[in-house]
Amino acid sequence: MSQRLKGKVALITGGAGGCGLAATELFAAEGARVGIVDLPRSEGAAVAKRLNAAGLHVVFIPADVSDANQVKEAVETVEAAFGPITVLMNHAGILSAAPFLETSEEEWERIMAVNVKSMFLVTKAVLPGMIAAGGGSIICTSSISAVVGTPMEVLYCTSKGATHMFARAIAVEFRDRGIRSNAVCPGFIATAHGLNEIETLGRYGVDVTESAIAAAQGRLCKPSEIATVALFLASDDSSFVNGAHLFADNGYTAI
Ligand code: NAD
Repeated sequence: MSQRLKGKVALITGGAGGCGLAATELFAAEGARVGIVDLPRSEGAAVAKRLNAAGLHVVFIPADVSDANQVKEAVETVEAAFGPITVLMNHAGILSAAPFLETSEEEWERIMAVNVKSMFLVTKAVLPGMIAAGGGSIICTSSISAVVGTPMEVLYCTSKGATHMFARAIAVEFRDRGIRSNAVCPGFIATAHGLNEIETLGRYGVDVTESAIAAAQGRLCKPSEIATVALFLASDDSSFVNGAHLFADNGYTAI
C-alpha cells in the first residue's frame, strides 16, 4: 500500500459494516490509525481484532451515533487511544422505505436522528481537536437520494438532502481553519443496506429489477468502490477539494 494516510487518525462511523468496513480496511492499510464507532451488536470487535492481528492499528468503540453522550465518550476514547482525529467519515446510516402516508412521526425522528443528527453530534465533538491539530478532512456519506426522489423514500431522501448540505456548509464555515468537508454520493451498493432497499422497494412495486438498476447505473456498486472515493477525499490528494458532492453512481444522476 502507498501509505497515503500515514500519520492520520480516522474515525469512521458505521465502520464495522458495508462501505464503512471497506473504508476501515482501506484507511488502516493506507497507514491511518482507525477508530470504528458502530453499534454494540455490530462486527466491530472482530474487525478490530482481525486488523490489529495483521499489524494495523484499529480500535472499536461500541456506540449509537444518534446518542449525544455515547458520541462524546466515543470521540474521547479514539482521541485517548490515537491522538486528535484528522479524518472523520460520517458514514453510519439507515434506510426508511414505505408509502409516505403510512410513515410515522417515530420513524421520522429515528431516521433524522441516525442519518442527520449523528453528523451534527460527531462532527461537533471531533472538530475542536481537528482544528487544534492543524486541520483535517470530513467525509459525509450522502446518496443519489439527495438529488433524485424515489417513491417510498420521502424520509430517507430528506435525510440525505440534509446530509448533502451539512457537508457543504461545514466546508464553508471551517475552510480557513484547515478543514475540508465533502460528501460522497453513491448509487445502489451491494451491502446489507442496498440489498434491503432493493428488496423493500420491489415489494412496494418500485421497479428496481436487475435490468432497471442496469439501465440507471450499469450494475450494483461494490463497497470497495466507495472506500476508494473516501480515501481520495481523506488523503492530501484532494487538498483543493472542499464542499464538493462527489457522485459515485456510474452515471445514475447524469442520464
Ligand atoms: P450497511 O447497512 O452495510 O452498514 C451501515 C453500518 O452503520 C453498519 O455497520 C451499522 O451497524 C452501522 N450503524 C447503523 N446505525 C447505527 C447507529 N445508530 N450508530 C452506529 N452505527 C450504526 O450500509 P452501507 O451500504 O455501508 O450504508 C451506510 C451509509 O451509506 C448510509 O449513510 C447510507 O445512507 C449510505 N448509502 C448507502 C447506499 C446503498 O445502496 N447501500 C447508497 C447510498 C448511500
